[in-house]
Amino acid sequence: MKNIDGQTAVYGIIGNPIGHTLSPVIHNTISEKMGINSVYVPFRADDDLKAMTKGLFSLGVKGVNVTVPYKTDIIGELCGLDPLAKEIGAVNTLKYTKEGYYGYNTDILGLDRELEDEGIDLKGKDTVILGAGGAARAVAFLCASKSPASITIVNRTKSKAQAIEADIKAYPGNSAGSETTVVKSLTTEDIGAYDRDGIIVFQCTNLGLSPHENECVIADRGFYDRVSAGIDLIYRPAETLFMKYVKSAGGRAYNGLKMLIYQAVCACEIWNEIKLPEEVIREIEKTLKQFV
Ligand code: NAP
Repeated sequence: MKNIDGQTAVYGIIGNPIGHTLSPVIHNTISEKMGINSVYVPFRADDDLKAMTKGLFSLGVKGVNVTVPYKTDIIGELCGLDPLAKEIGAVNTLKYTKEGYYGYNTDILGLDRELEDEGIDLKGKDTVILGAGGAARAVAFLCASKSPASITIVNRTKSKAQAIEADIKAYPGNSAGSETTVVKSLTTEDIGAYDRDGIIVFQCTNLGLSPHENECVIADRGFYDRVSAGIDLIYRPAETLFMKYVKSAGGRAYNGLKMLIYQAVCACEIWNEIKLPEEVIREIEKTLKQFV
């Protein structure tokens, strides 16, 4: 049981639905391990983002995470935006400032940290992004900043993949420059036309998630022979069908748990202007494994 007193700082997460979130477990574990006098709670939001942001701000809520479906719409209520979050067009972390809430995208900072942790370097590699929703879009911007040989966005609805493709090509932070990084879009049905090997694949669709646990967006097993590493953003179940296919073809497979943990770690570091020790991050990982 937490010791809550008159000095306790309040943090939270807004979204709808919100009952499934693991963020309170992560953040309350961090504050306990770090001896920070704070509490983190879920807020089920309605769609009145203006009233909600004003209410949180006037009550002095120090930091807020934002989840589905508000990651883009909340931007209009903020006093400022981190440049990367602005390019992506989505935020998941708000920090209280005197002027209002300032927005960041720690989903992507978290994935970046996971890749570093796992020793996955995208430079010069062929990358494939499965999906073209909010998460895929953020992953595409991360890839673009890492000088890969190519980025291929594969989505059931090709127009959505093409919209991300166009934004990536126009992205000034595209470190490779659009002349050297090939960016293109395919539909999931066209995947047979993909011909690179040793690829790094990010699975950013909902397939694999309940009630689609036994589904995978690319059913063609031949595709997996080309994969050296597959990162599924889904963390529940801990091993998706996509991950099983990658592993059985000899590739390395990762779920989205580390990304989830690191997005929280990055948020906490931004809020408190600290660096969390490695042993605290390992403790969170151990705690979370009981929940997935
Ligand atoms: P989203 O914006 O709703 O996008 C969903 C994507 O899945 C779209 O590309 C959609 O294709 C595709 N899709 C859905 N059903 C499909 C089907 N039956 N067949 C083929 N494609 C299908 O969702 P999101 O916010 O990007 O999230 C995507 C996943 O990432 C979720 O599983 C989420 O849990 C996970 N995620 C994890 C983390 C983490 O920290 N680990 C963070 C963010 C997100 P269409 O465009 O054709 O509809």
